[in-house]
Amino acid sequence: GPVRAERSVDSLCPYCGVGCQVTYHVRGDAIVAATGRDGLANHERLCVKGRFGFDYSRHPQRLTTPLVRKEGAPKEPIDPADPFSHFRPATWDEALDIAAAGLKRLPRTALAGLGSAKGSNEEAYLFQKLVRTGFGSNNVDHCTRLCHASSVAALLEGIGSGAVTAPIAEVANAEVIVLIGANPSANHPVAASFIKNAVKRGARLVILDPRGQALTRFASHHLRFNNGTDVALLNAMLHVIVAEELYDKDFVAARTTGFAELAVHLQAYSPDSMAPLCGIDAGTIRAVARLYARAGSAMILWGMGVSQHSHGTDNSRCLIALAMLCGQVGRKGSGLHPLRGQNNVQGASDSGLIPMMLPDYGRVGTPAVRGRFEAGWGQDLDPAPGLTVVEMMNAAQAGIIRGMYVEGENPAMSDPDLAHAREALAGLDHLVVQDIFLTETAMLADVVLPASAFFEKTGTFTNTDRHVQMGRQVLDPPGKARPDLWIIAEMGKRLGLAWSYDGPRAVFDEMRGLMDSLAGITWERLEKEGGITYPAGKAILFDESFPTGDGKARLVPASGLVPAESPDAEYPFLLSTGRVLEHWHTGSMTRRSDVLDRLQGVPAVNISPADMARLGLAEGAMVRIESRRGRVEAVAAADSRLSPGALFMPFCFTEAAANLLTNPVLDPVAKIPELKVSAVRLSPA
Ligand code: SF4
Repeated sequence: GPVRAERSVDSLCPYCGVGCQVTYHVRGDAIVAATGRDGLANHERLCVKGRFGFDYSRHPQRLTTPLVRKEGAPKEPIDPADPFSHFRPATWDEALDIAAAGLKRLPRTALAGLGSAKGSNEEAYLFQKLVRTGFGSNNVDHCTRLCHASSVAALLEGIGSGAVTAPIAEVANAEVIVLIGANPSANHPVAASFIKNAVKRGARLVILDPRGQALTRFASHHLRFNNGTDVALLNAMLHVIVAEELYDKDFVAARTTGFAELAVHLQAYSPDSMAPLCGIDAGTIRAVARLYARAGSAMILWGMGVSQHSHGTDNSRCLIALAMLCGQVGRKGSGLHPLRGQNNVQGASDSGLIPMMLPDYGRVGTPAVRGRFEAGWGQDLDPAPGLTVVEMMNAAQAGIIRGMYVEGENPAMSDPDLAHAREALAGLDHLVVQDIFLTETAMLADVVLPASAFFEKTGTFTNTDRHVQMGRQVLDPPGKARPDLWIIAEMGKRLGLAWSYDGPRAVFDEMRGLMDSLAGITWERLEKEGGITYPAGKAILFDESFPTGDGKARLVPASGLVPAESPDAEYPFLLSTGRVLEHWHTGSMTRRSDVLDRLQGVPAVNISPADMARLGLAEGAMVRIESRRGRVEAVAAADSRLSPGALFMPFCFTEAAANLLTNPVLDPVAKIPELKVSAVRLSPA
């Protein structure tokens, strides 16, 4: 335990967006324990990932030297017994020279970059600057596209700001908490503990989710609606609130636009007409609508179950309309909170890892916005929005994108329809991957640059609450691995950029000059205080007006009623993908954490007990899951939280990569794929 440590360092958890503050206890060159600090987001709590998930940084598979693909080595799946067989070690100079030269050979329109929500704000900022000024296009994105892109699109459209309006901790002041499409007990466990405490104090918890979860036993209502019918359910609730005049008339009149059009639109969505579609009886829909509308204070929290749909933007539009009709924003215990998944997905988005927006969300096509960055960076910028994650893969397969620089992301595991994505990555003329392990994506690279784990660098990170916090270096990178910021800067220099940054603070100071959101937040203050909420220290936003042109929120009608793919005779099951408590994202870190992988090391598909019985499947039997796009084999696990016909698989297992099955169809507004709904069939393997 900590008593035997030689020193300790205050930092953060590397995993989810809750952003727990952690003290790491170190002996020699290894972390031996992690304890929770009294951060705003965690009050000394940590979940199993934060407490035990640090040992991946000293895993024997860490990349410790730059690698260059051997002459003639094919870009195909690598023998897992000898993963390095296609590569030879290289010096940093040689690897960086080859990495940059291969990109420089290609036309600027053939290049794209993927940055990381696991890196610091400074890394995200410098990476997008490299693409915009070094590549000369806006082809830069990151996993927010697969995460909350649709929530952010709807929030920007509706209230002019894509971040949360209130922190998770505000549930302590809420009378009603609506949790939809999220499973915090597994994915944001410390947030789940705040919700539990709120219920114990007297709050009513309403869970809207096709699947059951650990928080269900704390809920006054659990509406297990049919997967992908969020708009039907939420519009029916909105219908009730308008028809029964339960809305906040003063708030609607003073602070919103579009009410008349929304009211007309909602006439077609009565609870009676929507009940058969969403699978919830009209009486329950009415009861829940009334509960929310009559609450003195109410918060809505949501996750990927809302956003990862071909109607993801529509789904979030409904949630925003709910809050705006009932005036549930800008006060204690009220608000809209899309739960961010990765520890810096908020900050990476703020810092500009978005193809249509510069840092702080100004559109690349707006001359005044672009002009500010052109002046700051001393060069003209492309006014055309760049490609999003899935669009990049499609363009790569079409031969339009031919060179990519991927920093700390693993699209060969995280993208939908993986066979297609892997083929696109393998077909590139030149792929540079910067990571800490030889990930599934790195295996397809021409050059692999060994980077730093979270614990091996200093930088700022922004959690789901808009709280900017200081992540401090605990350990040195192993072998020749280097800090990501150093690698990005070296790549920049080799792409012809006149850069000289001597560390994260220099980058942060440049960001402060260009990003209004960082006003008042200085490196010194962060060092001293550990964390500061933006804007201007305000935890709860929009008590008076919204950052829209006219200061009012826009009520936007939503109409997407069914998912792109529905079960049929050939593919009768409906598969959702997601995470499990012990693992995080594509598993590159947690699957190399001894404790976590021992707790949960077997790829399973969760099946309802009724379907297990009907198909004669025993617990632990190997089954084959097939969609129109691919097939995997996994272990059958009975899960009473699922309805018959529904399946669930985590996407972190490389040996049964769930995304081989998923549907790449995109939400037309936010370009997020429908990872939550794929039609599949199931058979004994
Ligand atoms: Fe880390 Fe999230 Fe768990 Fe906190 S809740 S310890 S940030 S994974």
